[in-house]
Amino acid sequence: DLAVVSSPWTLGPLTLPNRVVMGSMHTGLEVHDDGGAGMAAFYRERAAGGAACIITGGIAVSDEARGGPDFAVFGVGGADERFRVAVDAVHEEGGTILAQLFHAGRYALVDGMVDRHGEPQRAVAPSPLPWSAARGVVPVELTAAEIERTIEDFAAAARSAAAIGFDGVEIMASEGYLINQFQSPLTNLRDDEWGGSPERRRRFAVSVVAAVRAAVPDLAVTIRLSGADLMPGSTTDDEVDALVHDLLPLGLDGISVGIGWHESRTPTVQAAVPHGAWLAYASRIAGVVRASEHPDVRVIASNRMTDLRDGEAVLADGTIDAVALARPFLADPAIVNRSLDGAFDLVNTCIGCNQACLDRSIIGQPVSCLVNPRAAREVAFPARPTTSPKRVDVVGGGPAGLAAAVDAARRGHTVTLWEASDRLGGQFDLAALVPGKEDYAATVRSARAELEERGATIHLGRAATADDLTSSDAVVLAPGVVPRAVDIPGASLPHVRSYEQALREGVPEGTVAIIGGGGIGVDTAAFLTESPDEALRATEFAARWDLDVSEAVVGDVPQRLPAATRTLRPGGDVTVLRRSGKFGQGIGITSRWVAIGRLRDAGVHMVGGVREYLRIEPGVLWIRDEHGEERPVPADHVVVCAGQERALGTGAEAAAGPADGLEPGLQAAGVPYAVVGGARDARSVDAVRATSEALEAVRRL
Ligand code: SF4
Repeated sequence: DLAVVSSPWTLGPLTLPNRVVMGSMHTGLEVHDDGGAGMAAFYRERAAGGAACIITGGIAVSDEARGGPDFAVFGVGGADERFRVAVDAVHEEGGTILAQLFHAGRYALVDGMVDRHGEPQRAVAPSPLPWSAARGVVPVELTAAEIERTIEDFAAAARSAAAIGFDGVEIMASEGYLINQFQSPLTNLRDDEWGGSPERRRRFAVSVVAAVRAAVPDLAVTIRLSGADLMPGSTTDDEVDALVHDLLPLGLDGISVGIGWHESRTPTVQAAVPHGAWLAYASRIAGVVRASEHPDVRVIASNRMTDLRDGEAVLADGTIDAVALARPFLADPAIVNRSLDGAFDLVNTCIGCNQACLDRSIIGQPVSCLVNPRAAREVAFPARPTTSPKRVDVVGGGPAGLAAAVDAARRGHTVTLWEASDRLGGQFDLAALVPGKEDYAATVRSARAELEERGATIHLGRAATADDLTSSDAVVLAPGVVPRAVDIPGASLPHVRSYEQALREGVPEGTVAIIGGGGIGVDTAAFLTESPDEALRATEFAARWDLDVSEAVVGDVPQRLPAATRTLRPGGDVTVLRRSGKFGQGIGITSRWVAIGRLRDAGVHMVGGVREYLRIEPGVLWIRDEHGEERPVPADHVVVCAGQERALGTGAEAAAGPADGLEPGLQAAGVPYAVVGGARDARSVDAVRATSEALEAVRRL
C-alpha cells in the first residue's frame, strides 16, 4: 500500500499527483540535433509512466558552465527550441518539468573544447584547483566581477526556462559542482567577500538562489543541496545546516538532498551501497527545515532507492515530502504507475550496475540502461505495437533472451521462450547470489511477470531443437555462455569447481584459490567473504566509511530475495590470481574501485602477474609467479573463473557444442534468425551489448 507515495502535494505553485520526482540525469540527448525529438520521447514516456515531476539533465547557464561538449547551454545552438519540444511533450502527458540550472565549475571537462568564438574553452572555479579527471586543465579563478556575472547567468537561465515553458527550476548546488565548490574549504581558498569564512563561502549559493527567485517569481524554485560532500576536510554538517538556514528565507519551494562529490572515495551509487544508505542526511536536513520559521519548504530525499515500497517507508512519518529517483526511471519509465497499481512484480528494477548510464555519461557516451536498452533511444525504438505480428521464438532465458522476449511481446508478437536449464536469468541468476547484486534477480522477476502477463509461452528445462523452430517467423538465438574450463593438471579433482558451481552450491570451509581475477573472480571472492544480509552489510558499510547511515528501509522489501546460505570465511583465506591486466577488469569505471576496495578491506589476497598455473593438488595450487618462481597457494578449494564460452553452438564451427545444429536447421528451413549476446562473442561478455543486441535483433525481424 503506497498511501503516502500516492498522495498529492504542492511544490510552490505546482500541485503534484504523487510523491515521486524523476531526478536529474545527464543523457546527452540535450545536444542531439534532432529538434528535441529524442528528449521529448524520453521525457514523455516517463511523464506518462507517472513521474509527478521531472528534473532535466543539467542545462549549462553559460558556455563555461558546461560539464563537457555534450551539455546544452540556454540560448545556444537551438537548445531552447529543443527544450520547448520536450516541455510540450511532458505537458501533453499531464506532467510537470523543471529545468536544472547547472554550472560545472572545476568539474568542466574542457580538454579539446572550444567556445562559440572558436577559442579554447576555459574552466572556471572559486580557486585554481584542478580535479583528477580534468587532464591537467587548471580552472581559472573567477574574479569578483565574474562572480557577479555568473550569478546573473543563473538568473538569466531561469528567465530562459520560464520563457521556454518549464514549470520551475532546480539549482544544482550538489555533487561538487560550482556552487558546492564555493561552499567547501577544499575548493574555495579565496580570502575576499566570497571566501575565507564559512559565512562568506555560503554567500555565492545564497546570492544565486536570491537572484533566481527574483528572476522567476511565478515558477517553482528548488535547490539540489549536498547533504554531505563525503570529502575529508570539506563542509561540515553544521555548515550544511547553516546554509539551509540561510536559504530558507529566500523563497525556496524545495530542497532536494544529494550526496557526495564525483571525486569522493566513498561509494554512493554503486550496487554495493546498501539501499537507503543516504536517507539519514535528508532526514537531518528535513529536521532543520521543520524546526525553522519556514517549515513548509519541501524536502526531497534521493539516492539508492529502487523500489517505491522503500519510498513509502521513507515518507511514512511525514518528515520528508517526496522522493527523487533517477536511474530507476531509466530502467522502467512506468515505475510509478506500475507501483501505484500494486504491480510490483512488473517493475523493471534498476540493478545499480551503472554500466549503461553513469559509466557512459562519465566519458561523454550516450546513456541508456542495461535492463532497458530502449532507454534514451525511444525514437529509434518506438513503443508502438507492430503492424505485422509474428511468431517469435527466443532461445535462451538470460539477460539478452529476456530483453528480446519482452520487447517482442510488448510489440504484440506471439513469443515463445526456450530455456535449456530449469531457471530463467542465466548470468543474472548467478550474479544475484553475489552480496550487493541481489537486485539482479529483479530483472528476471519483472521479465517473467511481463511475459506471463502478455501471454508468452515459457519452456523451462527444454533445449529448443531446430524442429521446434521451423514454423517460427523469426528466431533470436541468445543461449548465453557457460564457464570455461582450464587445462591444468589436477583440474578434474573434486575440490575444483567452476564459478557457477561455487555460487550455486557454495564452497565448504577452508582456503580458496580463485583462478582468474576479472569481474567474475572478484564477484566470487565477495561471495565467499561477505554477508548476504543487507542490513548487516549496511552496518558494516556505515562503520567502514564512518557514516550516519539510515537503517530505515534497508533489507525490508519483499522482492529482495534472501541470498543462499553459505560458509563465510575470513578474506585472508581467499586468494584471487590473475595472469595479466587489472583485477576486476570488465567491471565498469564507477564500480570497479569499490569492488576491489571491498576485497582489500576484507583482506583477500590478490596475486597478479601469474606466469603459469602449474598444477592443482589436494590443498594447494602451484603457480609460477611473476618472478618465475614456483610457488604454492593454499587451496583447500579451487574456483575457476577463467572466462566463458558459448553455451551452445550456433554455427558450423561450433559443432562440438552440446545443442548444436540450430543455425543450419534454421537456414535450411528458411527461418530468419539473429545471434545475440555471449553466443555471438563470448570473449568479452558485456551485458549492455547483449541486451542492446537483443533489442536491435527483435526490431529487425
Ligand atoms: Fe540502473 Fe544499470 Fe540501468 Fe544504470 S544501466 S539505470 S544502473 S540498471
